[in-house]
Amino acid sequence: MEYLKINLEEINANIERACARAGRSRDEVTLIGVTKTIDEPAINASIQYGVTDIAENKVQEITRKYDNIHKGVKWHLIGHLQTNKVKYIIDKVDLIHSLDSFKLAEEIDKRAAQHGKVMEVLIQINVVDEESKFGIPRSEVMSLLEEVSKLQHIKVAGLMNIAPFYDDPEMARRDFKVMKQLFDTLKDTTFDNVEMKYLSMGMTGDYEVAVEEGANLLRVGTGIYGARDYSK
Ligand SMILES: *Cc1c(COP(=O)(O)O)cnc(C)c1O
Repeated sequence: MEYLKINLEEINANIERACARAGRSRDEVTLIGVTKTIDEPAINASIQYGVTDIAENKVQEITRKYDNIHKGVKWHLIGHLQTNKVKYIIDKVDLIHSLDSFKLAEEIDKRAAQHGKVMEVLIQINVVDEESKFGIPRSEVMSLLEEVSKLQHIKVAGLMNIAPFYDDPEMARRDFKVMKQLFDTLKDTTFDNVEMKYLSMGMTGDYEVAVEEGANLLRVGTGIYGARDYSK
């Protein structure tokens, strides 16, 4: 699976150049391999080539693959999470990127308490309000933070955004700027259990722009693993 090594070298070089352009240190930025539809041997090979973090968008894929993946890697859930499925992944994932309601926060809090852990989550923001089904508009972030800050077993660790698909990655830049501005504003708030550490944005088509605009978690699937085959 030499192609994984080649792809990762190229992406890492691109990240390094984007960091240099933005005057950022490469250590600030974590590349997350998005492994939806990818089978375990390829995921494990990518881990051997240096991938430290992997992300799935479906609960079922996490539970199916979990035991077959090398230990020590960090697991991220990046897709929409239904409250009735929280219990299946609460002991498996390190970061949930898709918090979008207080009801979901309450369920995560309850399940995390049962496992004696504090679950870190990102709030998914819908910057371009009409185009995406999930995430909350910026206007609702403060009230959600206020509510979540009262829970003991969930901690808001940052923000996540999925930019719409643009033909030109430059088009995503203005969304990323909006996200960075919100992220910086929220850094100054002093809610309990809220600490703005992670800004998750940028995918295969636009991760270099995302780095330039301040992302520190990049979610790259196709660029590492190749085109996804949904027919399997
Ligand atoms: C699939 C997916 C990605 C990765 O997309 P690529 O274009 O393959 O890099 C990133 N984020 C989310 C939320 C995804 O569902």
